[in-house]
Amino acid sequence: MGLEAKLNQDGFLVTKLDAIIGWARKNSVWPMPMGISCCAIEMMAVGDPKYDIARFGSEVMRFTPRQCDLMIVAGTVTYKMSHVVRKIYDQMPDPKWVIAMGACTSTGGMYRSYSVVQGIDQFLPVDVYVAGCPPRPDNLLNALIMIQEKIGNTRARDFQNLKLPELNVIQSN
Ligand code: SF4
Repeated sequence: MGLEAKLNQDGFLVTKLDAIIGWARKNSVWPMPMGISCCAIEMMAVGDPKYDIARFGSEVMRFTPRQCDLMIVAGTVTYKMSHVVRKIYDQMPDPKWVIAMGACTSTGGMYRSYSVVQGIDQFLPVDVYVAGCPPRPDNLLNALIMIQEKIGNTRARDFQNLKLPELNVIQSN
């Protein structure tokens, strides 16, 4: 009998460190709720009993960036506001992920205006875009599941040498 089979028989679980860290990390993603306008209402709904984000281990929304690893940007981002969003993102510890929730956040939406950023990927590395105006709460949960898959497919040690792309912080007009 091999060592792994013997340990299993004796009640031990044999796994890789990468797998256990990935499992723990992906099931305890703590969101930073960057609710800026109307999409934020749908974002809040994921915490209610009907949608129950706690099923995915992410009910711990934190309002301090130091305790978060997922920024959910929900709403219309103006150039003036973009500096604040970027600053909060920079204050989050690595590794970290970003969801762009809704048409405005992803592309500027209906606001083809000099004052509105036409997509937050101009100043943040977005992992998942959520379509809709506003997206339903289940769409946001689906995005969270995609983030979890991404985390689960990355080896823990890969995060240690994580190199973020150079980002151009946009300037106000
Ligand atoms: S996508 Fe629609 S619901 Fe969301 S912030 Fe823009 S206008 Fe509001």
